[in-house]
Amino acid sequence: MLPYARVVVIGGGITGCAVLYHLAKMGWPDVVLLERSELTSGSTWHAAGSIFSLTSPSCAAALQKYTRELYPVIEQEGEQPIGYHTCGGMTLARSVDERKKLETLRSRCLRNGIPSEFITIDEIKNRAPIINTDGLRAALYEPQKGYVDPASATNAFARAARKFGATIYRHSPVIATRQCAGGEWEVTTPEGTIRCGTIVNAAGLWAREVAALAGITLPLLPVEHQYLITETMPEIEAMSSELPTISDGEANWYLRQEGQGILLGAYESHCRHWAESGTPLTFGHELLPDDLSRMEENFMLAVERIPCLGIAGIKRVINGPMIFSPDLGPLVGPYPGTRGYFCAAGVMTGFNQGGGIGKVVAEWIIEGEPSLDVFAWDVARFGEWTGKSYTKARTKYFYEHRSHRIYPHQQFMTGRPVRTFPSYDRLKAAGAVFGENFGFEIPLWFARNGEPQEDRYCYERQNWFDTVGKEARGVRTSVGLFDSSSYSKFRVTGAHSARWLDRILANRLPAIGRAALSPILSPKAKLIGDFTVTRLGETEFLVLGSGAFQSFHMRWFESNLPTDGSVRVENISAQYCGLHVAGPRARDLLSRVSEADMGASAFPFLSGRRFDVGACPEVVCVRVSFTGELGYELWFPSAYQIPLFDTLREAGRDLDLTLAGSRALMSLRLEKSFPSWGLDLSSDYFPSETSLGRFVRMDKKDFVGRDAAAVRLAEGPRERFATFVVDATDTDALGGEAVFCGGEFAGYTTSGGYGYNVDESVALGYLKPRFYRPNTHYEVEIVGERRPAILSEAARFDPTGQRMRA
Ligand SMILES: Cc1cc2nc3c(=O)[nH]c(=O)nc-3n(C[C@H](O)[C@H](O)[C@H](O)COP(=O)(O)OP(=O)(O)OC[C@H]3O[C@@H](n4cnc5c(N)ncnc54)[C@H](O)[C@@H]3O)c2cc1C
Repeated sequence: MLPYARVVVIGGGITGCAVLYHLAKMGWPDVVLLERSELTSGSTWHAAGSIFSLTSPSCAAALQKYTRELYPVIEQEGEQPIGYHTCGGMTLARSVDERKKLETLRSRCLRNGIPSEFITIDEIKNRAPIINTDGLRAALYEPQKGYVDPASATNAFARAARKFGATIYRHSPVIATRQCAGGEWEVTTPEGTIRCGTIVNAAGLWAREVAALAGITLPLLPVEHQYLITETMPEIEAMSSELPTISDGEANWYLRQEGQGILLGAYESHCRHWAESGTPLTFGHELLPDDLSRMEENFMLAVERIPCLGIAGIKRVINGPMIFSPDLGPLVGPYPGTRGYFCAAGVMTGFNQGGGIGKVVAEWIIEGEPSLDVFAWDVARFGEWTGKSYTKARTKYFYEHRSHRIYPHQQFMTGRPVRTFPSYDRLKAAGAVFGENFGFEIPLWFARNGEPQEDRYCYERQNWFDTVGKEARGVRTSVGLFDSSSYSKFRVTGAHSARWLDRILANRLPAIGRAALSPILSPKAKLIGDFTVTRLGETEFLVLGSGAFQSFHMRWFESNLPTDGSVRVENISAQYCGLHVAGPRARDLLSRVSEADMGASAFPFLSGRRFDVGACPEVVCVRVSFTGELGYELWFPSAYQIPLFDTLREAGRDLDLTLAGSRALMSLRLEKSFPSWGLDLSSDYFPSETSLGRFVRMDKKDFVGRDAAAVRLAEGPRERFATFVVDATDTDALGGEAVFCGGEFAGYTTSGGYGYNVDESVALGYLKPRFYRPNTHYEVEIVGERRPAILSEAARFDPTGQRMRA
């Protein structure tokens, strides 16, 4: 066994082999894969091998498309036929809402150039003569859908990786991983120990056990999944071309041709977990006892649609385990809090995602960052709060609802609440309907006057529409109170904290008592984050950002920290709460509860300082507001939240203080064209393509990403951030909708909603530069309907920002 490798990949399933292949192909031949048994010994060997690209979010679609396009390449490079069938595939819809789901998906996928079309009933019959089209409303056809032979595809990756110089050791179970003082890892097998710079945990069904060797707990649980294969069917034999794959999201089944029969799989309505307390080390090329009764409901629905299935003999049933994360997305990237430990685990659909995961993991290791935003797959989207009970509840729910439609704004209650800030009961009593942010309950809106305290989902404007309108108008008319506790909060201190922050922030550091908005760039000038930085002292800063990204950002900070202890970054997000007061009467309100001088000259826009508010000493108050109003964000230890909340509510009673939730905040910031991190901003963009370009100070001598930002500036933007006013009917854009100009695909939206104060439907998004033209007619495709839109170069509300500077 080699004594050293730059990277050791643990696990020789489709994922591990794809990671190894990409590392070697990208120029790192001294990489090793360790497989405890034969390659494909986990979920891989018994998969159905179906492949498709029509999916969301955008990164999943992009990487699934990439994976699909890679198959002919690895077939050649690996000199290994992989049984790749591009037979096309159709997704069926019976109900109106299911058709809307497919319309939305089709539009979203145009951003990544994934073709699909609705086909007529005649075309459905032509392509799949065995189908009963009764009651069928639509079928979305994806011409590139198909399937591969799982073992052959895995072996093709492995053979191609070897060709590029990688080494694979089979029958080499990893029994220990130990990090040495210098940061390198020792990976031990019974045959010996390899030292390496980086470990990639691609151990699939055993990813939990392999992670535990390094003291890491991954939120994963295996579930059983079944498909059956029929005997040869005369109806299939009689077909002149191969049957397209067919899936029915409303009945939770999928099928494809297998030989001259059919392979039918189902996401049964009763999920069965497997090996909850640990995957047995002895489990190998085995199957679990099948239980067709669990599949009966889906089977009967499939027979309704494909009647000849009802009389086909069953040749084989496969019941195999696969491992899921709480949202079914893979866990990819450097594990937060470690050095040189990457995850490529929890891969639910390895034949669609394996190639893409291989690519981004290899880029991340070799180049320091992936080439696109993969937060939706990043292991950092979960945290310590993601315990077993949550993981179990969520994996069960999402297995059982695997292909169910997800409505706009839909929240999932399963497994919640996980954690709450102190105000939770107060907010609930006030009518709050909650969403989830990094495990915390956050108020979305407040049901009033006896209306149901819950979301009711549909594609059109939902039950909360008018009430959120009242909240949004209440803020701009007088004053609103938001609970902003779920934001991320980092305290940065230490002798060199200013110097360090100045190097990682793209904007100039604020003076003491001042605040600044600042992006952080990667070395390649991609956006990493968007923060409010308040300087509380010479060497003390409060850095505020997106709550959902706190582990992602903490990982970034830690990987850039000096090793001499001269800078300290603490994530105080769970220990500190926030309340946000905004609106023209916000100053009046705060003046009633604090002795501090709130006057515009004493405490101007973009100031930040400490003073007592109500009974809470030393509140950090920052004069900013995502609403675009005169606003103050208050940050304080969580023990003070309830008294402070009560004090503000009481003091605001005669000011018509409005309790407002995040949906009102989203409407208000849309009116201001303020982009939101994770929606409109991500590492998909260079700052000059967004509205954050003005916060990147190229006159600063040195900061991370500066040189690359200069190159990007010279090259010009690939896309341009845009605000659209949409002539919507009763459905607003949500984000992801395709935008057309003169019939051509011109761009896409990233968020949208109703601007209650401007009385317009507003969407933010990106246009290809050649389409960015004022006074031009655009169309935003909302749930299949192209709605006229105009480009607005200025924010729709208070474009000069006078109100927030008041
Ligand atoms: C019935 C069924 C049907 C499916 N159909 C499809 C489909 O149609 N399309 C699709 O895309 N996906 C499908 N899947 C899912 C697919 O099988 C998985 O997404 C994929 O196989 C995951 O691959 P992996 O490499 O991540 O993990 P695994 O296949 O589990 O591989 C992990 C590997 O790591 C090795 N390993 C574990 N521990 C160690 C250790 N300590 N040291 C060394 N090696 C170790 C194991 O032996 C194994 O070979 C299906 C799954 C099931 C159960």
